[in-house]
Amino acid sequence: MIQNNYFSENSDLLLQFDNIIDWEEVVTAYEQGFKDHKKYKETGDEALAFAPSSVEEAIETYRVTLESLGDVIGNFVAPRAPEMDRVGLKYDSGKVTFPDAMIEAYEKVQEAGLQPYSISRDHGGLGMPSTTQCFVMEVMSRADGAFGIAIGCVNLAETIERFGDEDMVNHWVPQMAAGEVVGAMALTEPNYGSDLPNIRTRAEQDENGVWRINGAKRFITHGCGFAHKPSVILTLARTGSPTSGAKGLSFFLVEGKDVFIAGVEKKLGLHCSPTCEVVYENTPARLIGKEGFGLVRYAMGMMNGARLSIAAQSMGIAQAAQAEAAKYASEREQFGKLIKDIPAVRKMLDRMEREIAAMRQLLYEAARSIDRYHWRQHSMEKSGVDERTIRKDEEIRHWEKLASFLTPVAKYYISEMCNSIAYDALQIHGGSGYTEDYDVARLYRDARITNIYEGTTQMQMHAAIGGVTAGMAATGPIRAYLDAELARFSPSPALQKNRELLEAIVRDYREIKSSDDKELVAFEAVESATRFLNGLLLERAASRLEGDARRRFEKMAADYNLDSQAIMQGNLIRVQAPEKVSEPALAG
Ligand SMILES: Cc1cc2nc3c(=O)[nH]c(=O)nc-3n(C[C@H](O)[C@H](O)[C@H](O)COP(=O)(O)OP(=O)(O)OC[C@H]3O[C@@H](n4cnc5c(N)ncnc54)[C@H](O)[C@@H]3O)c2cc1C
Repeated sequence: MIQNNYFSENSDLLLQFDNIIDWEEVVTAYEQGFKDHKKYKETGDEALAFAPSSVEEAIETYRVTLESLGDVIGNFVAPRAPEMDRVGLKYDSGKVTFPDAMIEAYEKVQEAGLQPYSISRDHGGLGMPSTTQCFVMEVMSRADGAFGIAIGCVNLAETIERFGDEDMVNHWVPQMAAGEVVGAMALTEPNYGSDLPNIRTRAEQDENGVWRINGAKRFITHGCGFAHKPSVILTLARTGSPTSGAKGLSFFLVEGKDVFIAGVEKKLGLHCSPTCEVVYENTPARLIGKEGFGLVRYAMGMMNGARLSIAAQSMGIAQAAQAEAAKYASEREQFGKLIKDIPAVRKMLDRMEREIAAMRQLLYEAARSIDRYHWRQHSMEKSGVDERTIRKDEEIRHWEKLASFLTPVAKYYISEMCNSIAYDALQIHGGSGYTEDYDVARLYRDARITNIYEGTTQMQMHAAIGGVTAGMAATGPIRAYLDAELARFSPSPALQKNRELLEAIVRDYREIKSSDDKELVAFEAVESATRFLNGLLLERAASRLEGDARRRFEKMAADYNLDSQAIMQGNLIRVQAPEKVSEPALAG
């Protein structure tokens, strides 16, 4: 596996950081008037000592953090990743054992103080916006997808911070920020995965008013904690009647010591990530927030951030696969030349390169949309502003709508492309790619989960399709957003052509009468909107660059838009005849 600083020696990631991201916008949205710094000046609270007082200071803090992370991940964790994968987890009588190499790598990241990146400074975290969190997740997952999750899961503390009561926050969040306790999220059950509104696990209050949970959860990442560190499991359970649907669900904090880990899954990939079966038997639990809001408010409230986190994980795995393939292709010779110079291989490498660039633009645009509303909303909630006022806030409304479109689109596109890139990367390795001698086999296996968990690609379509229909109406928010972004640079004729194709697809999609037919071609509509958007973002990125970097991005954008045109023309045909999409091959 390539070993170097995964941040400062990745020139495309640096371009993203230095030239493409509008940090002024992100930092202003996150720091909310640099309130942490002002509070430090007033109170001398040491937890806030490193809070930035300006945009420049914030950027410098992120840069130093990412340089340090890139070094630890690229030079210490990456070389251990193959062993972590090979040794995997051991399960015996409720206890899970992690490989020594992983514990060593985990401790190294903790010692460098890099773990609690999304927890607020107040409670001992690093206090970073979603945009910076994506850099962290991308860099970590490039070494190992399972490792990225292991480090990232303490950051579930953000949910407690946001929705828990004061006692709960003060007790648990600092422990999680210190890495003494890890977080897990328990939604899925054996019979209910995508269909969360119907879950069965029950919570009831006993005669002393203590909530008790009974039932079983499946596939719970780090339900067992990590090594000797216990977990807190944020658990979704039914408090209403069995038929109360999503409104009968509440969210609870459960201590890992009070549940039984009945097993861990043997999986295709993510061998170091414990996917646990968790059994609750009269397990004591504490209600988070209000009864009945578990799924509709709290889980949904965290959904955009959760989707983004898996999109960033996918980005890291894809980046690793692309870099490994490019390296192999520039060393392997066949027919007397390097395989990178054979047109069919060159074509795969070029497509991977421009897809990586497009995925990255989409990832950081989705992060931008979260940053633009989330911290303002959080700050208003913490200052006791009433809910109705928050819901009426124009800035929050606008950017939340965009995030609710951009995050499912980013989750779907980046995870699907991560799979496609891992596939091509293995192909470029030929037979060697199919052996465990090269890292690409592990990357290929790990990629496969990214478009399944945290909502499958098909479920992301349900979340995104409204953005393509209502969002693209004459006064819709997605149309307004696309027009505003197009006005920031001179769009190419190819991009304008794709806009026309998108308009035709949206128009014809809207005219489909049957809801089943609409569902059949929702993917085509969402894919077309995503590809148009990515072309736009690539051209916008090029406009922020100079010299060779600009020319390279212009070329990648032109090639990407051509790919999109071909795909969108096919999608238009399908949207015009949705009934043909699933017509059985044989009658009867
Ligand atoms: C490694 C791993 C880690 C995980 N970690 C966690 C975790 O920490 N916490 C947690 O709660 N869960 C976790 N999960 C569970 C994960 O989120 C679910 O597996 C996922 O949401 C899909 O649910 P399912 O497996 O029940 O599939 P199903 O819901 O049974 O879906 C099967 C197929 O049907 C499709 N489908 C279902 N309904 C629809 C629909 N309405 N429209 C279109 N297509 C549909 C799906 O897209 C899929 O292709 C994890 C799973 C794995 C494998």
